[in-house]
Amino acid sequence: MRKLNYFAGPSVLPMEVLETIQKEIVDYHGKGLSMIEASHRGGMFEEMYDECLASFRELLNIPENYDVYFLGGGATLQFTMIPMNFLLSGKRADYAMTGTWANKATQDAKKLGDVNVFFDGKSSNFTTLPCPDSVKPSDDSCYLYLCANETIGGIEWKSFPKTGNVPLICDMSSDILSRPVDVSQFGMIYGGVQKNLGPAGATFIIMRKDMLEHRNPNLTAYMDYALHSKEKGLYNTPPVFSIWGVKLVLDWIKANGGVEGMDKRAEEKSQLLYNVFDNSSFFRSPVDKRFRSRMNVVFRLPSEELEAKFIEDSKKEGMLGLKGHRSVGGLRASIYNALPKEDVVTLVEFMKEFERKNG
Ligand code: PMP
Repeated sequence: MRKLNYFAGPSVLPMEVLETIQKEIVDYHGKGLSMIEASHRGGMFEEMYDECLASFRELLNIPENYDVYFLGGGATLQFTMIPMNFLLSGKRADYAMTGTWANKATQDAKKLGDVNVFFDGKSSNFTTLPCPDSVKPSDDSCYLYLCANETIGGIEWKSFPKTGNVPLICDMSSDILSRPVDVSQFGMIYGGVQKNLGPAGATFIIMRKDMLEHRNPNLTAYMDYALHSKEKGLYNTPPVFSIWGVKLVLDWIKANGGVEGMDKRAEEKSQLLYNVFDNSSFFRSPVDKRFRSRMNVVFRLPSEELEAKFIEDSKKEGMLGLKGHRSVGGLRASIYNALPKEDVVTLVEFMKEFERKNG
């Protein structure tokens, strides 16, 4: 029996994708070997990789003047690579400290150059975001950095600041392809694939080509985006299994209404949960209503004892991953693209029953 999977990442994958992997893992399309046994140079891997990149472009409507490729090292490596490449000496970069993930990126950037923190959510315990229209980059800014969706805090930018000539760089690890995005508004979008796009391992990079004109040119090979751009992410051995999984997830998204389809699903699923909080004095959402995440829904109960019981009881019902991140406590349901709506309905029913018994 499959469990109901609300993990924050690695996380639920579409059943169709798992079944395709199962079917093709030994013999890919009758070629007599597995995709994960093939060389990444030429042949079946590159054919699949090119299709994967083309699907990504098509789904997100990525303009021609942007590079798209995958790297290893997780989204975390980008916390370092971004300032190494783009935070030039004598200039500064603007960062919003909106929660765990933006804060980590900020700390890494501070080690490499001059950082202006234009928003710090600490006083609200990272439950709110600045109004996008109020955000302006500093005069000498190399880029302005944001995390689109804070996976742990459960807050999400609903629109993005207009930064003019200053490139906007955004971590979309946990909400990529859950909504349409105007890519041309960004200098760079990146993220780990292990939430909305596939099995862990690969990191997607979407970068406007002219970003490379204003980078530090004296970096070691792997740290230099120009090299990855030239090699389409194949400078060294790519995470082939992860990329294959991404390709299959992108096919699944296409077959399920594309980004608009995912947007609609995310709206419906998240509303089911937020409706519970809005009509209950037992369940409570700690985050600012205007910035509620549609991917990571965090909530609290009247006591930590009840929260522990909720987790224990939900596990007995085959529901996994509902414990909030250890750094913040509470509860969290991650309801990424691949999570079926029925699994949210089941969770809501469980919550109502839990309230009836313990409220
Ligand atoms: N950014 C966000 C928004 C994340 O949720 C995570 C991981 N949960 C990361 C960055 C770090 O990703 P990775 O573990 O792939 O380095």
